[in-house]
Amino acid sequence: MPGPTFTTLEPGGDNALAVTLGVLGDEWNLWILRSALLGARRYGDWIARGPISHAVLTARLGRLTEAGLFEKVAYQQEPVRHEYALTARGRSVWPVLVSMWAWEQRWSADAGARLPRRRHTTCGQLFVPRLVCDACGAPADAHDVTVRTGPSGERSRCVPAATGRRRSGRAARTPDVVPHTMELVGSRWSAALLGSAHLGATRFGEFAEQMGAPPAVVTDRLRRFTELDVLAPRPHPDRADWVTYHLTDKGLAFFPVIACMVAWGQRWFNAPEGPALEAVHLGCGAPFLPRLVCDRCDGTLHAATVAIEDAAGEDG
Ligand SMILES: [Zn+2]
Ligand SMILES: [Zn+2]
Repeated sequence: MPGPTFTTLEPGGDNALAVTLGVLGDEWNLWILRSALLGARRYGDWIARGPISHAVLTARLGRLTEAGLFEKVAYQQEPVRHEYALTARGRSVWPVLVSMWAWEQRWSADAGARLPRRRHTTCGQLFVPRLVCDACGAPADAHDVTVRTGPSGERSRCVPAATGRRRSGRAARTPDVVPHTMELVGSRWSAALLGSAHLGATRFGEFAEQMGAPPAVVTDRLRRFTELDVLAPRPHPDRADWVTYHLTDKGLAFFPVIACMVAWGQRWFNAPEGPALEAVHLGCGAPFLPRLVCDRCDGTLHAATVAIEDAAGEDG
């Protein structure tokens, strides 16, 4: 069997971050992937699991297959019927989902019942993932990692082309599984603001420049992120009429989700010029790659040792 390989992106086109946001910044895609990790393989499995429409499911499965997360496999001849098997690329989304669920659970009061439970089969306990540096094993949070843009990291390449996110729109029904996460990564400008904040922007002008967004959009997103308690305004020490925006504990705690998303994207989608982001772990000086460990036993979590269990009443 050939080893899992990455996709080479178009020179000068969407980089790994844009592709990742297009795939994982969509709540239906996350719901479909979550159901697949819980065992869904056939079209009817997803229909039976939740309120997804045929049109949405068909479109999303097609897109996820095109992006290499599923592979269509015939399970029956005459008539031929297919099922959707997660590829190595699709299965390796689990650290992103597990990090999102942990963040939702910690920071949103009503999240618990919606989220699947995560058990570490090595120690048998329900766990909360902890982010560590893969090179040295030391805990890593937003302050322990420096990030700079790489050769394919130009701003215009970091969001899907043509504002490419095909959102179902606010009016359409969404599974509402990770609503707070979607506020941060589910639209182009929110993701850009979040990225800018984690890259060190604090002033309005810095956000506007890093996001490449019109001022009204920056104002609107800053207001929303403040309402969400992801950013907090602070008076500037030198100028009373300046306000700076800083990541709150809740905003900083989203770092593992970002780290896992970026690592997944850069593992599977390579721009020919090089990575979009280059991160270094300050503790050991090595290029930073995320690893998740179990908070109960400190063991490294692997796809094979993370059991995802349906939450009670998920389909109710
Ligand atoms: Zn390290
Ligand atoms: Zn454990």
